[in-house]
Amino acid sequence: MTYPNTQLFINGQWQDAADGRSLAVLNPATGKEIGRVAHAGKADLDKALEAARKGFETWRDMTAAERSKIMRKAAGFMRERAESIGRLLTQEQGKPLVEAKGEAMAAADIIEWFAEEGFRVYGRIVPSRGNLAIRQMVIKDPVGPVAAFTPWNFPINQVVRKVSAALAAGCSMLVKAPEETPAGPAELIRAFQDAGLPPGVLGLVYGNPAEISSYLIPHPVIRKITFTGSTPVGKQLAAMAGQHMKRVTMELGGHAPVIVCEDADIALAVKCAGGAKFRNAGQVCISPTRFLVHESIRKDFAAALARHAQGLKVGDGLAEGTQMGPLANPRRLTAMAEFMKDAVEKGAKVLAGGERIGDAGNFWQPTILDEVPVQARVFNDEPFGPVAAIRAFDKLEDAIAESNRLPYGLAGYAFTRSLKNADLLARRVEVGMLWINMPAMPSAEMPFGGLKDSGYGSEGGPEALDAYLNARAVAVMNA
Ligand code: NAD
Repeated sequence: MTYPNTQLFINGQWQDAADGRSLAVLNPATGKEIGRVAHAGKADLDKALEAARKGFETWRDMTAAERSKIMRKAAGFMRERAESIGRLLTQEQGKPLVEAKGEAMAAADIIEWFAEEGFRVYGRIVPSRGNLAIRQMVIKDPVGPVAAFTPWNFPINQVVRKVSAALAAGCSMLVKAPEETPAGPAELIRAFQDAGLPPGVLGLVYGNPAEISSYLIPHPVIRKITFTGSTPVGKQLAAMAGQHMKRVTMELGGHAPVIVCEDADIALAVKCAGGAKFRNAGQVCISPTRFLVHESIRKDFAAALARHAQGLKVGDGLAEGTQMGPLANPRRLTAMAEFMKDAVEKGAKVLAGGERIGDAGNFWQPTILDEVPVQARVFNDEPFGPVAAIRAFDKLEDAIAESNRLPYGLAGYAFTRSLKNADLLARRVEVGMLWINMPAMPSAEMPFGGLKDSGYGSEGGPEALDAYLNARAVAVMNA
């Protein structure tokens, strides 16, 4: 599939912006323009909002079985088309083809799980306190049309989690997907269109993110907001939603600690955390970043992680054998250079990488820093790139305190052979997701979300459906 221009999807129709505006889409491996994406204006948003309002009325009144059938059909299309969709994703986002195809396949799994879970939106009957003639019911209803804002690091995955839960709950959704990576999300929406989703149930727009969010969030048609992106933007949007009393799910940044205990299997820790660190060139909210390694094994661990980083094949994601692609945009290259300069000035040792590769495309070397002072920016701000920062600890309590020091609380990792350590870590590390002795394994059926500044609400498990439901009390006197 050659890279297409991406249009807006409004009321079941693909269309250009009413005023014809569009933006360039660049391939991060070359820096060259590969296509254009339509830039929505107010007239387009008004049309999309009206469609979402009507789409909600249609969708909410369909049965779970009817919704599920359409969703499962869409999942099938994602699976069938994973190869060609993967090629689009790699061209616009940079990740290796195998990761891009995997993202399309994982989308199918997520849609299917929610298609089934939609059957289990149960209310309940609650006995009346004082009168047997009263039947008290708790009824779960969809909240209404939802506005979703999603980022460029997983152009499909970030949309599909929101769309699947919202559709299963009976909501319509207007998605503002990332302008830098528009074709992947468009293919996801197309799968639903081809599966027979009624017009207006899903809409897709691109444009100026701040203009669109400040128009949609206060708009009376929109009843819920869901955002994935950085903590500073999430706080702004949550505040705006608060002013208009809209329900909110926020999936924000992270700064995942990796605690490697004295008794850890070092090879396993390097394999799991090294793999996770450089996946999608580190542009992952659950990417491991602060490596806290027991002093007795720090040198061995750091050397092994550096060998892992140096052995990775970095290149165009479409090229055979590429293990890490370019960063998704030039902003990340600038950020990496700043993190490096600051860390080295503060005394960190560079064990691998640390520099840009070439001058075409956004390639950065897989980077390992050791003996990183806690004041270094990389130990405090989310790097969102291929850099692992290591420092030593003596007592497990100190590693736990360091893990919890930052306002982030999204993901964490730990490696230990001791059940006692594992239990303490599970209880004390303040993160929404913790993986012990294993790589990250998010799935549709498990909660996905953070604590503290990493946001609130969950994008997995039955909790994800609750986020799109109102629980209402209805009592009927059997008179
Ligand atoms: P950014 O903070 O400007 O944007 C992050 C995302 O939010 C983008 O998708 C952007 O389109 C969107 N956005 C920005 N302002 C918005 C607004 N007013 N209304 C609605 N959407 C808005 O930064 P960036 O350079 O695109 O990304 C860098 C940072 O974003 C990273 O350092 C990382 O912390 C964070 N990020 C997090 C995730 C995640 O999965 N949680 C994904 C992508 C980026």
